[in-house]
This record gives sequence, structure tokens and C-alpha cells, in this order.
Amino acid sequence: MAMSRRTFINTCLGLGVIAVAGRQAARADVHRERWYLFGTLVDVTISGVSHSDARSMLAALSTELQRRNRDWHPWKPGVMRDINNAIASRAPIRVDRHMAHMLEHVRQLHQASDGLFNPAIGRVVAHWGFHGGTADGWHTPRRDVIDRLIASRPSPMDLQLSRGWLRSTNPDVQIDLGGYAKGYAIDLGRRLIAEQGVEHALINAGGDLVTLGSAPQGVPWNVAIRHPQRAGRIAWLTTVGGEAVFTSGSYERFRESGGRRYPHIIDPRSGEPVRGIASATVVHADPALADAAATALVVAGPGRWRDVADRLDVDLAMVVDDRGRVSLTPAMHDRVRLDG
Ligand code: ADP
Ligand code: MG
Repeated sequence: MAMSRRTFINTCLGLGVIAVAGRQAARADVHRERWYLFGTLVDVTISGVSHSDARSMLAALSTELQRRNRDWHPWKPGVMRDINNAIASRAPIRVDRHMAHMLEHVRQLHQASDGLFNPAIGRVVAHWGFHGGTADGWHTPRRDVIDRLIASRPSPMDLQLSRGWLRSTNPDVQIDLGGYAKGYAIDLGRRLIAEQGVEHALINAGGDLVTLGSAPQGVPWNVAIRHPQRAGRIAWLTTVGGEAVFTSGSYERFRESGGRRYPHIIDPRSGEPVRGIASATVVHADPALADAAATALVVAGPGRWRDVADRLDVDLAMVVDDRGRVSLTPAMHDRVRLDG
């Protein structure tokens, strides 16, 4: 899985805010840790607490995120795989309150996105080879298999949840929260450290991030958004306290065959990898919504993303199309400084 990053924080680039971050790094009350989770590097910065408190909070946070990463992994052994096996064999299965909450939420997001965000198409994603395997010798999947799966219309609306039991009316449903669970997990992580008294924090999972409060010294977190088509930055984004920033793109994880690239985001209507949008960045107070919405906007494509953003109550979004053209929602104009 790619380790490249969609956004990078002030520390990485030589503009104004770096100086702040650089000075802060030397300060005793700024603590940083880095782990490899969710297929990416997760950087955590917390400030305003003692060294020993920070150590125990970061340890608790690491345990929490590791657990979520394991439990909600779309295809490795764990809770999610057990659920998918139960669905395939038409058996009911018990789910915990987080899973029940996530499934309720993704049903709403599926509806609001007009079906473009569809975390029930795990089988289609797997057929395209995005569940493990290597890129070597990869070839496009059989069209008839994809067509059959799409014809059975797997949807989170096929799921029935009652008193902690889950079942699906459609055995072709395979739940893949790859476009959502990272947002939910880092939101849980943020809650955990906030409950312990942390007021300023940043959890950055490979460019998808949540903030808590402001950066050290009260400045807003400034986020550099990576250019989807070349090295470096396309824009600076200013966040206000508590916002999450999520970017989905067709440029990071993809397969290649016959000179064509096949990105890992699938249009649920056709079963085909998306085209038209190179990256979509969403800023929202709810990290899980931001994660799902960024995926949905990429699926929506250049002609429809504004409509889908409206439907999802997303005011702040930036889209870069396949030709590198940038579009912003009206509210995003005030937050973004484009390069060049
Ligand atoms: P990333 O995995 O890079 O954070 P996304 O948040 O866009 O990017 O999630 C992409 C993942 O979501 C895919 O790897 C797949 O597991 C899943 N997925 C693919 N297409 C869709 C879709 N239309 N709706 C919901 N999830 C999807
Ligand atoms: Mg997403």
C-alpha cells in the first residue's frame, strides 16, 4: 500500500508556519509519535500536557488505533472478515456498538451520496485486486463476474440491524469500510485523548487528519495539500479547531495494465474504477463523514461532485480533475491558498 501522503503539515514545507512548528518541536510540552497503521504512517502531535502524561496518553492511543485497525480491516482475519463470512453464508452475527453505529452511519451516507459511497461492494473491490495480492502480472477482472455482482446491487441498505444482531438480505454484500473506518477510528482516538485532558492535538494518518484545538501557540493548523499529479504542494489550507481534512484520490493506490491505470475507488453503478477526478479534499467537523464524502466526490466526477457535496452537507471541498484543474466550493475559497 502506498505510503505517500496527500497532505502534509506545516513542518514539512518552508513557509511561515514551519517556523512555529520548528520552535515548538523543541518545547518540552509538544510530544510527537509515529506508527504504521491503516496502511500508512500515523503521526500524532499533542501539546499542553506533561511528558509523563503524554507518554501514557500516546500509549493508550496507540493501543486504541491498533485495535481498530485490526478489527475493521476489510479483508484480513478479524471482526470484519467474520461479519462478511456470516453474510456470505446467510447467517446472523452479533456486532458491537461501534460496528452497529458505523453501519447505521454508512447507510445514511450511502443514501445521502445517492449510492455513490457504497461500502457494500467489497466483492467488486476484491475482484479488481485491491484486497491484497501483488501488482505484478495483474490484469483486469472478468467483465461477466463484475456485471453479475453489480446486477445483484449490493448495498448497505441490504443490512438489517436489530438488538446487536446483523444480517444481510443479499449474500453478495461484502462490507468494506476502507473509505470510512480510518475517519471513524481517528475520531475515536481524538475523543480518547480529549477525555484525558488534551486540548491541542493533531492526528495525521498519511495526510488524512483530525485536529483538536489549535496548533501550539494558538495558530490554526495549516495543512499543505499535495498535488495529485506531481511532486509538491497544490495548496495551503487553513483549518479551524476540531476540523478534519480527508483526501481521496485516484493517484495513490491503483493497478496498471496495458498502459492504463485503474484506481482503487470503484463506481458502484458500473463496477469500474473511477475516472475524471484526480483528488477530492473534504473539510468537516465529523472525520468519518469527511472520509466517506471525499470518496463519494471522486466517484461523482467533475460534473456532479458539487451536487453530491450539497447532499452530504459538505460546505468545504476542493476537487482536482484529471487535467489538474482545481475547483472549490464557495466557502472553501476563504480557506485555501492555491500555489502558482
Ligand atoms: P484511502 O483508502 O486511500 O483512504 P478512500 O477513503 O477513498 O481512500 O477509500 C478507498 C477505499 O474504499 C477502497 O480501497 C475500497 O476499499 C473502498 N471503496 C472503493 N470504492 C468505494 C465506493 N464507491 N464507496 C465506498 N467505498 C469504496
Ligand atoms: Mg474516504
